[in-house]
Amino acid sequence: MNKYPIQKSEAEWKEQLTEEEYRVLRQKGTERPFTGKYNLHVDDGQYTCMACSTPLFLSDNKFDSGCGWPSFDESIEGRIEYIRDTSHGMIRTEILCASCGSHIGHVFDDGPTESGQRYCVNSVSINFNKK
Ligand SMILES: [Zn+2]
Repeated sequence: MNKYPIQKSEAEWKEQLTEEEYRVLRQKGTERPFTGKYNLHVDDGQYTCMACSTPLFLSDNKFDSGCGWPSFDESIEGRIEYIRDTSHGMIRTEILCASCGSHIGHVFDDGPTESGQRYCVNSVSINFNKK
């Protein structure tokens, strides 16, 4: 068992998610840049965790960072867990859904807006609910 409010076995996640979603969300994969369906998506609404439907980001905080993944300058308070990630020879901050522990992406402190944050998110990790 883990600490997350939403508990599922890896077999249950595998059944619920597509192969690509499982690879990214549960095995900390990364989708190829400029391929995600929400990269250039600009509608008003909120973005939820693809695995457990918890709202994570608002469209108001989305911006075009040019990096090839959906980017946000803030997350919805309390919905994201931050973990130091030293994989691939880099020191980064991994972001997880605080409700189910699924991998969402990384956050960097080189954002162009007032928050200074750039949440770099996999499209397959999120779902969109139109306002
Ligand atoms: Zn989740």
